[in-house]
Amino acid sequence: MADENVKDGEDYRLDRNAELRFEVDSRNEVQMELVEGMAEVFGTELAKKQICAFLPGSKVAVYTYHGCVVKLRGKTEVAYISKETPMTMYLNTHAAMEQMRQKADIEETRGPRVLVVGPTDVGKSTLCRLLVNYAVRSGRSPMLVDLDVGQGQISVPGTLAAVVMERVADVEEGFVKTAPLVFHFGHKSPADNMTLFNTLMSRMAEVINIRSEQSQRVNSSGVVINTGGWVRGSGYDVLKHAAGSFEVDVILVLDQERLYNQLKGDLPEFVKIVLLPKSGGVVERSQHARAEARDMKIREYFYGVKGNFFPHTFEVKFSEVKLYKIGAPSLPESCLPLGMKASDSKTKVIPVLPTMTLLHHVLSVSASDSGDQNIVETNVLGFIIVTGIDMDKAVMTVLSPSPRPLPKSILLVMDIQFMDIK
Ligand code: ATP
Repeated sequence: MADENVKDGEDYRLDRNAELRFEVDSRNEVQMELVEGMAEVFGTELAKKQICAFLPGSKVAVYTYHGCVVKLRGKTEVAYISKETPMTMYLNTHAAMEQMRQKADIEETRGPRVLVVGPTDVGKSTLCRLLVNYAVRSGRSPMLVDLDVGQGQISVPGTLAAVVMERVADVEEGFVKTAPLVFHFGHKSPADNMTLFNTLMSRMAEVINIRSEQSQRVNSSGVVINTGGWVRGSGYDVLKHAAGSFEVDVILVLDQERLYNQLKGDLPEFVKIVLLPKSGGVVERSQHARAEARDMKIREYFYGVKGNFFPHTFEVKFSEVKLYKIGAPSLPESCLPLGMKASDSKTKVIPVLPTMTLLHHVLSVSASDSGDQNIVETNVLGFIIVTGIDMDKAVMTVLSPSPRPLPKSILLVMDIQFMDIK
């Protein structure tokens, strides 16, 4: 372990297979420069002499396979070098996936579909980023699917999303997400509506199959699927459903032998289940830190990672839009119309009347044109926030990434709220 507190412009010399881990102070930025050798941040190679700036609160690991010197400028909460990292195992996992892709190329079949699971704070998102980056660096176009509705690696929290990755992630800003496919879920945990969550997973898998059939390049590159940290009880059933829907070939279990053994016992033999250790660098987050990270994701959507987007604020008349939410509270079977199951109400499209309770809620703009049941499985185009409501004038003020008018008039209400305070 090296210095705990870094002064301005401190050099760190890393031996091969070592990692410099640092956490940026909560009020300042930290600049990092690769002075000598070769290194990468979560699978993205650093260019020599290039200066990268990390935002307050960022948690970063600079890994080197061959040795390097890295300079940090600015205040860090903590910065140390570790030689104990699971990176070689992660690289071997990539190598195994690459072999499966080569086989898929030859046989013109499907590449590996990998589900990454594990409890909270074990580095699932980071492993997905690493595997996708390595795949892109090997000339592939893998699909990244994000089922972690609590955080949102591709889109805002409360959504399931997928995107084909053609470029490695930017060291400072993460992946550039061109034309992602996004479905509205509306809550921050699958537990809030498991029926809807499972329906959307199945729909997402269907669309991915169609997308894969359109291009053998995408098909053989495979799919990397990130999940949330809910692995017990019904959370475990959600993972099994995900494995089935996406017809995964490999499940990477991070840091939990119990989950590994459970999956081994429950899934068919052709699914390879691999237990991987977590990195000692992954930082544990409190409930509060998780909520902050969620807010940050929504802020990023509107303002950009570096505050370089300029969203618009405008009024929308209640009469211009139709508001819905998905899922009604379940009633006992005896109270339901003949032939209807209790689970049906969980995916029912329910009209919502505009009231003051909408204030600060995130609304998804549906790509659908008609307010029928199809809305549930239709993708969304983007998001707005209700920042004001005037019941007398029957208008709401919204924060939107694009100027008025809204691209479509069907809006889906999320449970998730966002206060636009800087
Ligand atoms: P969740 O349960 O919320 O989905 P997760 O298991 O996906 O979390 P990550 O989001 O991948 O975990 O990691 C948590 C934090 O730890 C992130 O801020 C990430 O940047 C940081 N982190 C991951 N690996 C390392 C490392 N080796 N060194 C330092 N920080 C790291």
